[in-house]
Amino acid sequence: MGANEAKLYFSTELLNWYNTHKRDLPWRRSRNPYYIWISEVMLQQTRVETVIPYYHRFIEQFPTVEALADAPEEQVLKAWEGLGYYSRARNLQAAVREVKTSYGGQVPDSKEDISSLKGVGPYTAGAVLSIAYNKPEPAVDGNVMRVLSRYFLLRDDIAKPSTRIGMEKLAKELIPEGKAGDFNQALMELGATVCTPKSPHCLTCPVMELCAGRLEGAADELPVKTKAKPPRPERRAVAYIEGAGTESGRVLIRQRPKEGLLARMWELPHVQLPETLQASAGRAGADADAGADAAAMRFLREKLEAEYGLLVEPVEPMMDTEHTFSHIEWRMRVYRCRFAGFTEGAAAAGDRGGDAGQASGEQQEKTTFLWFGEEELRQYALPNVFVRILQQAPPADSPKS
Ligand code: SF4
Repeated sequence: MGANEAKLYFSTELLNWYNTHKRDLPWRRSRNPYYIWISEVMLQQTRVETVIPYYHRFIEQFPTVEALADAPEEQVLKAWEGLGYYSRARNLQAAVREVKTSYGGQVPDSKEDISSLKGVGPYTAGAVLSIAYNKPEPAVDGNVMRVLSRYFLLRDDIAKPSTRIGMEKLAKELIPEGKAGDFNQALMELGATVCTPKSPHCLTCPVMELCAGRLEGAADELPVKTKAKPPRPERRAVAYIEGAGTESGRVLIRQRPKEGLLARMWELPHVQLPETLQASAGRAGADADAGADAAAMRFLREKLEAEYGLLVEPVEPMMDTEHTFSHIEWRMRVYRCRFAGFTEGAAAAGDRGGDAGQASGEQQEKTTFLWFGEEELRQYALPNVFVRILQQAPPADSPKS
């Protein structure tokens, strides 16, 4: 059988299979390009089951392009809290604002226009154009590259941009006339439910008969992907600063800088431990641990004072946790701290939302601190790792389990 027949077989069988096996997902009940766009951004690197409740809440809160464009960023981040990759939410809002001002609130239906929006890469552009507008554009992500690598027995490294471009060309050729939206979704569906990364379910696969990867016994080895460098570990000391008096029951949080990692999100203050402390923190034994903790607590106290004019008395270690980004891994030890005020010149964070003074040293941006309690929980967006710490931290006067 020739290459063209293998392609035709693939497209036909896949589409037939999709028509009877597709999952009933909320965004599939709509052709609204704005809704489809939101679902596609949420689905990047996040599982369908996780996305569904977020999608419903988000659409309810921001039902139109205008509603999202006009919303305060803090509210959008709060609605996104728990999905991670917050830059996606910020880019989405920036792009939607552009749609409102430059396209009269209509999500553009041309590849050039939609691709010019912030955060809209070839995959999202292809997904929205094909699913909402039925334009014959490919939508190639990791799932799709895996399916195509296996079916066509392609051994090109999918981490390379040139491979992606080749895959997009191939995927476009495969789109049956007038069926772009369904076909692209069928391809994604096959990758998500049948041609899974580990142990693909070849025996129930609609294209198994001509799948070259399966026939070659190579499905498990495909796709070829060179490994990204593992994230660099960083040990960090986190200050869990408990309020007293009128702030009793609250914890001091700060807002991150405007740019960079987790920009403008709120978090417990934390510092990176220097190499020397990192080494001692890794040594075994109770004495070594106690010594490492004492040194880390000293460093935390000095650093918070020097950088933010924030005075704390670290008391004891509370818990360990970690958070992995694509390039770094935070290995965090949380220390319970007593709040001792701010240095002269740094305004107190007594008011909720009050400023806590001018950061000094390399960090010139003003840092805002806030006493965070139940009430603030609904309003401010914290990265998952800090939500976890707040949920798990044992109260000071309770027996630790
Ligand atoms: S037969 Fe197996 S390897 Fe080939 S596309 Fe189907 S699930 Fe993937």
